[in-house]
Amino acid sequence: PVVTRFAPSPTGFLHIGGARTALFNWLYARRNGGKYLLRIEDTDRARSTDAAIDAIFDGLSWLGLDGDEEPVFQFSRSQRHADVAGQLLEAGHAYRCYLTSEELAERRKKAQEERRAFRIDSEWRDADSASWPEDAPYVVRIKAPREGETTIEDRVQGSITVQNSELDDFIILRSDGTPTYMLAVVVDDRDMGVTHVIRGDDHINNAFRQLVILRAMDAIEGGWPDPEYAHIPLIHGADGAKLSKRHGALGVDAYRDDMGLLPEAVFNYLLRLGWGHGDEEIISRDQAVEWFDIVNVNKGASRFDIAKLQNLNAHYIREADDARLAQLVAPRLAGHGYENPDMDLLTQAMPVLKVRAKDLNELAEGAVFLFATRPLEMTEKAQALLTDEARGRLAAIHERLSGESDWTLEALETALKAMAGDLGLGLGKLAQPLRAALTGQTTSPGIFDVLVLLGREESLARIGAQAQ
Ligand code: GLU
Repeated sequence: PVVTRFAPSPTGFLHIGGARTALFNWLYARRNGGKYLLRIEDTDRARSTDAAIDAIFDGLSWLGLDGDEEPVFQFSRSQRHADVAGQLLEAGHAYRCYLTSEELAERRKKAQEERRAFRIDSEWRDADSASWPEDAPYVVRIKAPREGETTIEDRVQGSITVQNSELDDFIILRSDGTPTYMLAVVVDDRDMGVTHVIRGDDHINNAFRQLVILRAMDAIEGGWPDPEYAHIPLIHGADGAKLSKRHGALGVDAYRDDMGLLPEAVFNYLLRLGWGHGDEEIISRDQAVEWFDIVNVNKGASRFDIAKLQNLNAHYIREADDARLAQLVAPRLAGHGYENPDMDLLTQAMPVLKVRAKDLNELAEGAVFLFATRPLEMTEKAQALLTDEARGRLAAIHERLSGESDWTLEALETALKAMAGDLGLGLGKLAQPLRAALTGQTTSPGIFDVLVLLGREESLARIGAQAQ
């Protein structure tokens, strides 16, 4: 059975690249009827924070990417990691290295001066335990193979080979007895039963080192199979540079809170970032599960395109349920000074508002006129429309509509068109000042929709207030 995992380090918020890695792991597990697990890699105690852990869970949950089981916290497994280091030591696959950092620095410097690649080549690799200095600090290093080569058949990158001589005897246990990242990942993946390691391609080099540990443990006790690897390309900005804040790459929480995006839009966007199914742009969750395969992931870096994300969001807003949108927009209206808006009215207005909005902020702005109190605040442009002539027309409209008892789209449209005809004017000449009077703005949903949403009483009051 397929088991995947997403293993973020909680040293920052859940960013867009991490969210995409989580998504691909989730999809691959769903596609194959497997499990998708979460592991919080919190071994860097100085940089890991609870706030980051919360933000990661929160962001994943918002995207519908909760793990299938309780998350594993890596730090809590330190003893298990140290025990494995002990097994490797015991079996001669690792060794105590007493080289000091000064000695290493000196050797590194010398290699640089002689213009040759530096390799650890510790004399402690084959040292007899009788020669171990007493009470001196040591690290535990893995004995990396020095001959031959290692090949990884990566599901995304294809076949990659490195000469084993390039692999250093890297540290698995620090001098304070704490495990390194390299060791912890291997032990946790194996103990969690992970079959497919899907992660950013900045980890490719680590994969070869992790295989050294894995194969040593497999030689010792069996049951440590190589996982399948799929290293997915990083995300770049539109200019091709590595993605950064400057490109609009923010934490997932900012997409939700600041930009007002819907999770299904972000989901669809992340999915299309580096993976595709023909020309399909709009892909639902279910379709994604049906179609996803890791081998279709592009080898090249994908480019982050904020306009595309916004267009997808506009699409999903149009598709979204009106009551749900009203719930999402209500808290944003508070920012405009309207707490506890009439939810029925807000819901009712959604069909005409949502076709004009790319995000929840625009949706909230579009809804403001519904709740505005008299006298309405006018934009400069709206004010400019309200000339004396226009105010005179508003008086006439007020009179005409006061006699209108049937306050429906059709009746109002008929009445205003007839009136424009009588006055020998285009409908726009009436609609423009009317829009200004009703909304305080020069753009809004269709004028008849506005009249119906505001209702008879409120509409007449707003028109009356500007008429003369
Ligand atoms: N914790 C690592 C990171 O956040 C990921 C490790 C892995 O996926 O193997 O980059």
